[in-house]
Amino acid sequence: MRNYLTVFNNKIKLIIAISLFFAQLISAHANVIVNINIDKPEHHLAKVELKFEQAKAKQINFYLPTWRTGRYQTLNLSNGIRDFIAKDSDDNRLSWRKIDKHTWQVSGTQGKVVHLSYQVYANELAKRTRHIDDSHAFLDSSAVVMYSKESRSKSHLVQLKVPKLWNSFSGLNLGSNSHQFIAKDYDQLVDSPIETGINEYHEFSVDNRRYELVIWGKGNFDSKQMLKDLQVLVQQSKHIWQDYPFKRYVFMVHATSGAKGATEHVNSTVIQRSRFKFSNRKDYLGFIATAAHEFVHTWNVKQYRPKGIVPYDYQQENYSSLLWLVEGSTSYLQYQLLLRGNLMTSDEFFTSLAKRITSHRHKPGQASQSVAQASFDAWISEGGDYGNNHSVNIYSEGFLASWLLDFDILDKTNLVKSYRNVHNQLYQQYALPFSYKEDDVLDILKQLTNSDYQSWWQKHIHGTTKIDFKGLLAKAGLEMSYATSDKGKLSNKSKAWTGIKTKDSKHGLVITSVEKNSPAWHGGLTTEDVIIAVDGLRINDKDLSNRLNDFKPKQSVTFTYFRRDKLETVTLALTAIAKNKLKIIPMVKVSSEQKAFFKAWTGIEFPKKKE
Ligand SMILES: [Zn+2]
Repeated sequence: MRNYLTVFNNKIKLIIAISLFFAQLISAHANVIVNINIDKPEHHLAKVELKFEQAKAKQINFYLPTWRTGRYQTLNLSNGIRDFIAKDSDDNRLSWRKIDKHTWQVSGTQGKVVHLSYQVYANELAKRTRHIDDSHAFLDSSAVVMYSKESRSKSHLVQLKVPKLWNSFSGLNLGSNSHQFIAKDYDQLVDSPIETGINEYHEFSVDNRRYELVIWGKGNFDSKQMLKDLQVLVQQSKHIWQDYPFKRYVFMVHATSGAKGATEHVNSTVIQRSRFKFSNRKDYLGFIATAAHEFVHTWNVKQYRPKGIVPYDYQQENYSSLLWLVEGSTSYLQYQLLLRGNLMTSDEFFTSLAKRITSHRHKPGQASQSVAQASFDAWISEGGDYGNNHSVNIYSEGFLASWLLDFDILDKTNLVKSYRNVHNQLYQQYALPFSYKEDDVLDILKQLTNSDYQSWWQKHIHGTTKIDFKGLLAKAGLEMSYATSDKGKLSNKSKAWTGIKTKDSKHGLVITSVEKNSPAWHGGLTTEDVIIAVDGLRINDKDLSNRLNDFKPKQSVTFTYFRRDKLETVTLALTAIAKNKLKIIPMVKVSSEQKAFFKAWTGIEFPKKKE
């Protein structure tokens, strides 16, 4: 046994020695050397030193990007830079000036090896750009590492200097030590964030791929459960694509406070959640659905993406009318992984669908903007009251467009093809460095269905049409219902509705949104109005629902409110809204065709009748 172990250990040592040798070989030949010294983590600071190859030009512009991948909005990534110094190899200072917010122009560079150094302030956790504190650092290089036109295509070696107990992780390959990473070019560097700190670490392998789970922060998560489910999740991609575009994939999780959301990267993702939003089933479902979404992105956007964002232009907005296909279709396809992997029940899927339909029905913006327009304008999109009333969202409306397309393809091909085949073809035909256009998607649709999709596309992607949810669901043997069982009887009640959403404040209830064409909209109420009384009596509740329960649809109600300190009153004519939440349920009588449609759509059997 001992002998065997010795041989085994020697073998491992040899493998490590060989890989270190090659890593050193690569590192010796890296074109750009990046040193990141995190010496004052508690002050959110790092010192960055860059060494470039000998320059040919007299003058070089060094840039930081104006946005980061996965977030189609310009960000002030250059605002964290201070103490910028440019030098040559003999320690002579080179003169420089800033020519715009994100460009440092260095002169006298010809024939010189340029060294840059600067301080980075990193305290933007929720933007998933850069965050350093005494327990960890998360570094998306687009917010940390500068580049020039020449250096973008060159290999980068990143050496981190971090506090003693910290461990470092990234989708990038390791260099000659555990805090060193190698990127083949700047694009790979900025699409492979680095997480370093005091982390919980796990790994597993599936289909000869290594997966890592790195968790920063304490919280109510069960990492064993996460590992078990991620292991199932990653295998489900085979239902859409024929292979994996990576050898290693890293799930980075931030269990924290003040940050939520996630970002996809080339072979990694960072998922941020409130530290106590992991344990109950609803919260956990949110986590695993996010993981599914980000994993789908590994193909959809990281392997194939629309013209307009290929190659990424880091200096300005990258326009495309197809961002709904990048985001909304990813939200749609995430359910394929969740359902086929049995990570979500059919009931949970129906609840999620019902929520999406409800929010669509309360989104008046669908009449003002198509998904193609929303895609193009993603860079200037706004959420909140204005967003809801006058815009659509590439995620939620993109999801619905994908759903419509999926059912249309299933219909036209007698369940032989589906929207999954469209994505399979996009991967096969348009993987990077290629890109696809709207016409290419239309071509794929024609190849799959033998039908022309021009008019469908104009209607649903460039137009704003009402969606027939009833007809859509019926194809798969499902229907919508607001009824709940009340003491054994089905009840389908309605309640009074104003169209207002509020938040509590010490002055009263502050209006946060007024749905377009609702009673409150017609009454002229708007956001920031502060409601203090209902029908002449002070409101002390945290929201309006309790008081409105005393009113019936078609009754009038008077609100007293402050608008910029001026006292006002308005009387609204209440309308009706369903008292219960919308539910999606299996029809009582279902044909075998409907059951087959359901199976072809979700990959799972039609739910059995409940006893
Ligand atoms: Zn996404």
